[in-house]
Amino acid sequence: MTEVRPEQVLPNGSQPFSFNQASASSSRKESDDSKAPLPKGVVLDKDGKPCRTCTSVAAWKNLTRQAKSDSSPSTSTSTSTSTTPTVPLAAPTNPSPSTIPPECPPDVEQLGRSTWTLLHSMAATYPETANTEHQDNMSGFLKFFSKLYPCWVCADDFQTWMAHPSGRNQPKLGGRKDFGWWLCEAHNEVNRKLGKKEFDCRFWEERWRTGWKDGRCD
Ligand SMILES: Cc1cc2nc3c(=O)[nH]c(=O)nc-3n(C[C@H](O)[C@H](O)[C@H](O)COP(=O)(O)OP(=O)(O)OC[C@H]3O[C@@H](n4cnc5c(N)ncnc54)[C@H](O)[C@@H]3O)c2cc1C
Repeated sequence: MTEVRPEQVLPNGSQPFSFNQASASSSRKESDDSKAPLPKGVVLDKDGKPCRTCTSVAAWKNLTRQAKSDSSPSTSTSTSTSTTPTVPLAAPTNPSPSTIPPECPPDVEQLGRSTWTLLHSMAATYPETANTEHQDNMSGFLKFFSKLYPCWVCADDFQTWMAHPSGRNQPKLGGRKDFGWWLCEAHNEVNRKLGKKEFDCRFWEERWRTGWKDGRCD
């Protein structure tokens, strides 16, 4: 089975995309070795096909552009062995747009933003003190969520982070403050991985529950 090459898991073609290499490389493969290398940032799914929800819009557009180029007899580039994205001669010279129309399937970023909104909102409405049933329900949700999240590289990493051998990253489910803080730290772990600024977790409730003290959300 062919392994996913590092250059195929760099979202946006720039930021390092750290994930559990062992699990990723052991179970995923390229869709077709006979074709030109996939553009940077395109992540393959478990069935070896490009995974849209694991890939940024920019990388996805490069992929579709390459596919169009491959299928066009006048612009064939199938002999190329470069890892540089293949761009047809007719392609526009400006960079790929980083957004897609709202009625299109989500890319890794849009999916992420929507999911964080759901998760932090769940923390915002979590009981101040959670009873056993609430804790069990949330624990079950997080367990299944981390297995079923549609970006498999994200899911693998999230599971690995939660299962840190020290136990320090296990969900804190006693009450809203603990859970919200834990989720903020989980989100910051991803922020760090993607080279993004960390969020100051002291403000998670203003961001996700009460609105900011300056009144801009009222
Ligand atoms: C579980 C999970 C794992 C993911 N793993 C990956 C991955 O491996 N690779 C990848 O490319 N993408 C991953 N993503 C998506 C990624 O986290 C972002 O959602 C995506 O890159 C879009 O980022 P953004 O800058 O728009 O803001 P987002 O990170 O989506 O954040 C949305 C808003 O949340 C607020 N916020 C930011 N940080 C915090 C915090 N720590 N606590 C509370 N609020 C905060 C900010 O106001 C921000 O505007 C993952 C998403 C999830 C839900």
